[in-house]
Amino acid sequence: LPSEFKTARPILQTIEGAGFEAYFVGGSVRDTILKDPIHDVDIATSAYPSEVKALFHKTVDTGIKHGTVMILDHHHKYEVTTFRTESGYQDFRRPDKVTFVRSLSEDLKRRDFTVNALALKEDGTVVDLFSGLNDLAQHVLRAVGSPEERFHEDALRMMRAVRFASKLDFTIEKQTEAAIQHHAKLLQKIAVERIRVEFEKMMMGQNPLKGVRYFLETGLYAYCPRLNGQKKALSRMLGLNASLQLANETQVWLFVCRILGLSAQACPTFLKAWKTSNDLNQAVKAGLTFLEALDNQTVNAHLLFQTGERYLKEALTVQKIFDVSFDPDQYLVAYKKLPIKSSKELAINGRDLITTHLVTPGPDLGRVLTALQEGVLNGTYQNQSSELISAAKTMLTNKEESD
Ligand code: ATP
Ligand code: MG
Repeated sequence: LPSEFKTARPILQTIEGAGFEAYFVGGSVRDTILKDPIHDVDIATSAYPSEVKALFHKTVDTGIKHGTVMILDHHHKYEVTTFRTESGYQDFRRPDKVTFVRSLSEDLKRRDFTVNALALKEDGTVVDLFSGLNDLAQHVLRAVGSPEERFHEDALRMMRAVRFASKLDFTIEKQTEAAIQHHAKLLQKIAVERIRVEFEKMMMGQNPLKGVRYFLETGLYAYCPRLNGQKKALSRMLGLNASLQLANETQVWLFVCRILGLSAQACPTFLKAWKTSNDLNQAVKAGLTFLEALDNQTVNAHLLFQTGERYLKEALTVQKIFDVSFDPDQYLVAYKKLPIKSSKELAINGRDLITTHLVTPGPDLGRVLTALQEGVLNGTYQNQSSELISAAKTMLTNKEESD
């Protein structure tokens, strides 16, 4: 067992010692059997939340109404969730109301895919009620129970299917795939934020193009923000000969915008429909601005400065996906050679100009500083205070004369 499970064993033992059942469940069990690294371990138990809380010194009610209690133990955190069923699905979304139950099988039955419905006992025994082990061995993603019913209950599971196909590099079983195709339209009922999370994970998976192929073939794409009618453009992804490895959300959205041919000017509307964060929108816009300049061969020191190192690197990574022979080095070198990397590095600041009595606070001050910064960037001036002060003098004298 991986160390994450070993350190969590005493938690399960404590719960079992009190006469309840406790298991590792979900992604960590699946990933362990696949020999993939795991992040967080989820624990499921027959004990009700109040019963769990009574067994441990430090607990936090993280998701108590869904049955989740967090246990704090020796600087580790564990989420322990009471076995539950989810009945009364309305509007094709997961119900808010859940019922706590004492039976593991009821809990496993509500899970989405057979490979996600395995439970692991503290002693290493696997509980496999839906042949999840076999599907894991075959690299198959299969809905637990009737796929038609399961996607009708919760339409987000269809996006989860394409996400896991990509993340695990698994094939979606035929009937499960057919049910996605049949119910794709129900995706409209799901909050955009939740679709986005699955979409991003799909794009960042082990085999993103496998996920994307299902996403396109099942028609799910048509019910995502501003992707309806874009099958042809999105299919361009499948023709890229580079193996697609996107490391973060910025790269995902930069890549998608480039695939769709969206300009830096057009991207905010698109991203707004996906409800991405302001930070991300800013990163994508900066990256697209740089890539457009790259297209037009108008990259200069000013643009490198404006883009900044972080966004520059993301943009160069995305460019490389489209053009394997592209060499990002010259841009990284040019960036490193910039005399200043931020306005703060300019050898003089506003206060220096004011103390020399050259200018008073106001719009002129800002204009002079911007002009000096540009001059330093394009090599007109050295980044040196005496030279910049005399340059400022010249600018302001010329200005007075022309006023
Ligand atoms: P990851 O490694 O990406 O976290 P995961 O399998 O742990 O993968 P989670 O979204 O963390 O995925 O969900 C944990 C478990 O909860 C899943 O393995 C699955 O058993 C169950 N689950 C999550 N979302 C759903 C859903 N919409 N419908 C049914 N079961 C779900
Ligand atoms: Mg998880």
